[in-house]
Amino acid sequence: MNSNDYDVVIIGGGPIGCITGENIKNGKVLIVEEHQSIGVPLQCAGLISKNGVKELGNPKGVVNRIRGAYIYSKNNSVKIGNEEIRAYVFERKVMDKDIAIRVSKKCDFLLKAYGEIEKDKNDYKVKITHLGEEIYLNPKVIVGADGSKSITGKKLGLVNNKNREILSSCQFEMVNANVDEDFVYVFLDKRYSERFFTWIIPMGKDRVRVGLIDKGNCYNKLMKFINENEIAKEILRNATIIEFSSGSLPIGYLERTVKDNVLLAGDAACHVKPLSGGGLYFGAMGGKIAGEVISKYLNGEISRLEIYDKKWKEKFGNEIKNGIRIRKIFLKLGNDTLDEIIGKLAKSDLIEYINNHGDMDKQASLAMKILKSLDFGIGFRILRDLL
Ligand SMILES: Cc1cc2nc3c(=O)[nH]c(=O)nc-3n(C[C@H](O)[C@H](O)[C@H](O)COP(=O)(O)OP(=O)(O)OC[C@H]3O[C@@H](n4cnc5c(N)ncnc54)[C@H](O)[C@@H]3O)c2cc1C
Repeated sequence: MNSNDYDVVIIGGGPIGCITGENIKNGKVLIVEEHQSIGVPLQCAGLISKNGVKELGNPKGVVNRIRGAYIYSKNNSVKIGNEEIRAYVFERKVMDKDIAIRVSKKCDFLLKAYGEIEKDKNDYKVKITHLGEEIYLNPKVIVGADGSKSITGKKLGLVNNKNREILSSCQFEMVNANVDEDFVYVFLDKRYSERFFTWIIPMGKDRVRVGLIDKGNCYNKLMKFINENEIAKEILRNATIIEFSSGSLPIGYLERTVKDNVLLAGDAACHVKPLSGGGLYFGAMGGKIAGEVISKYLNGEISRLEIYDKKWKEKFGNEIKNGIRIRKIFLKLGNDTLDEIIGKLAKSDLIEYINNHGDMDKQASLAMKILKSLDFGIGFRILRDLL
């Protein structure tokens, strides 16, 4: 491999690195992935909205269809959904590989290859460590699609602990569960997860993903949930763990995701819904925008990559910003106030509104509507928790 063989090097062979590569219309693209296979290790619950699936190019790997959600708080619960299919559950290993197979028609892949940017005069170059060998490439553009902990973003000084928070996760795949396979189960209960939530997602008739995102030791927290939560105990009475996974999730809003000849995409750019942790829908949209901007840059239509920031912000920047605002309120709410909100929601006519108009890709707008519709008593409690 010669140093000028590629116009674009993408660091990270996850779905968003691949989708970015797929949308580069001109130039030679190399995707480098540190693992030996695309799609592993798993770090995802695999729940994707209809629109998200479309943005990802309708990949293979659907294992279940979802019509709604049971949302549980400490003592209350609410059921959202009707006959309409709203989301799909994917086997990510199958999905990621299918996307990579599609993309391999346009891009080259190098596996077991660790990519790092290095400053080189005015621009950046890439150092790849592949099976003990060091390869240096000088592409015109580099994409940091290197996931939640993005070393690329850190080296560029675009990502830090002030503009994004990293949460941890633990998840089990379990079989022989006793579950309503059409609905996901979401537990908004700070006894288990203080900073996010816990879930049971059916992958089919008796197969589920049980997971939790929070700060700190998520394994112990998930075990506590499985052993103590009455709903979980009922669903998982005869269930066995057949897969364990852990991972991390970035929540934040980056003002800048471009520096010199490098841009960030997907989790590396914090293109993640702050209220649910879903990163595939915004990530895929951002990857497409990145691909289009790079194409224009390569054919000389534009001389800088900064327009990427403007374009993704126009498309979904506000949804991330508003999600972060609501998340700040959520973090301050006591568990009893949260419980009361779910209790009120269960009795309100908002459920019909959510069933008819709710959009799981516009969670911030929906959460805002719910908060605004709460009565004076609970509004006062929220205020008390916030102060
Ligand atoms: C527990 C959990 C549950 C989730 N559930 C959902 C869900 O249900 N729905 C949803 O939409 N989203 C979900 N997400 C988020 C979703 O998984 C991510 O948003 C999505 O995977 C982002 O894709 P990506 O390509 O940006 O990053 P990744 O999928 O993380 O891919 C990045 C790739 O880069 C590689 N890499 C990193 N550094 C280097 C390097 N230096 N050199 C070479 N390769 C490198 C990694 O090995 C990896 O393959 C969840 C996340 C977590 C943690």
